[in-house]
Amino acid sequence: MKIPFNKPFLTGKEAHYIYEAVYKENKISGNGKFTKLVHSFFEQNYSFRKTLLTTSGTDALEMSALLLDIKPGDQVIMPSFTFVSTANAFILRGAYIHFADSRADQPNIDETSIEELINEKTKAIVPVHYAGIAVDMDKIMDIAKRHNLYVVEDAAQAIDSFYKGRPLGSIGDLGAFSFHETKNIISGEGGLLAVNNPDFVHRAEIIWEKGTNRAAFFRGEVDKYGWVDIGSSYLPSEIIAAFLFAQLEHLQEIQSKRKALWQRYYDNLKVLENKGIIHLPIIPEYATNNAHMFYILTESLDIRTKLIEHLKSKGIHAVFHYLPLHLSPYYRDKHDGRPLPNAVRYSETLLRLPMYYELTFDEVDYICEQIKNFFL
Ligand SMILES: *Cc1c(COP(=O)(O)O)cnc(C)c1O
Repeated sequence: MKIPFNKPFLTGKEAHYIYEAVYKENKISGNGKFTKLVHSFFEQNYSFRKTLLTTSGTDALEMSALLLDIKPGDQVIMPSFTFVSTANAFILRGAYIHFADSRADQPNIDETSIEELINEKTKAIVPVHYAGIAVDMDKIMDIAKRHNLYVVEDAAQAIDSFYKGRPLGSIGDLGAFSFHETKNIISGEGGLLAVNNPDFVHRAEIIWEKGTNRAAFFRGEVDKYGWVDIGSSYLPSEIIAAFLFAQLEHLQEIQSKRKALWQRYYDNLKVLENKGIIHLPIIPEYATNNAHMFYILTESLDIRTKLIEHLKSKGIHAVFHYLPLHLSPYYRDKHDGRPLPNAVRYSETLLRLPMYYELTFDEVDYICEQIKNFFL
């Protein structure tokens, strides 16, 4: 048996919509019919004030840093246990990052560790909804409000997931999503910026369109368009949008299959948790699970290394995740030296198991069987 970690799922309609975009609409560049369909899908289903399709989740984060007008010397707070793009987007504007630790019970940012990192240079907090599980956003928004800070949700993994009934990505000033082929809904590379703060709506579209008011021109709102602000080329071609729309039409079906697989893992491995051998993910009662990822936590790095080897010998590809950013070659000299023990622990003991739409229940059972054989 050979079970990869991830396998991109195609709904079957992707090529059909791409054909339509290219040959029928005759529109291959961005912001055409399919981009608009994608925008309305997200605005209608998740109550985002405005959405802009981007070429990646990374670009949606970079747009966020531009919108917040991050300047050299500004400070931003985010978890150390995250993807490099969360940090790079702000580093590119000259920000200094204060990395916060993860919670003891799950990898999301420890909300109680944020306030001590705030000073007069702090501009924003960037919570990351790890594995699509909500950060405790009431706490984040309360801190942000009291200190007059912006909140950018890194919701790259968090499509169709909720905090106390509110869609992730809709709570902060801005939210960034990713459709990279490792995410639940994909377009190869791709992302989306959700703009919730009304102050950013107008400028977001300009930054998206190379610093021009081209989008407003095509809506007939201005009679000529020109260079009005800084910006870049963040909008993807209609080929990407068409592909993505085919995926979104099957969102609920994809989500329910992933959730069923997730539950199968959980029920199967519960016995190991009951025996105190591993820890399983914790879903707080304020959060939903979008089954972006199924992970287990081992007791040590050594055990995890041996387990990865064992699973590999059985044809199963299981992978660890982030190396903490505060210890990375690029940042360790810039970090202020605070130890972030939980981030280090997740980096050393978290193991992600195969998770994709076409994974079968039998395969999940087989994987769990091999994990049990290793421990018992
Ligand atoms: C995937 C991911 C990103 C980056 O998204 P891309 O579309 O690959 O640029 C950013 N942050 C997190 C937490 C991610 O998982």
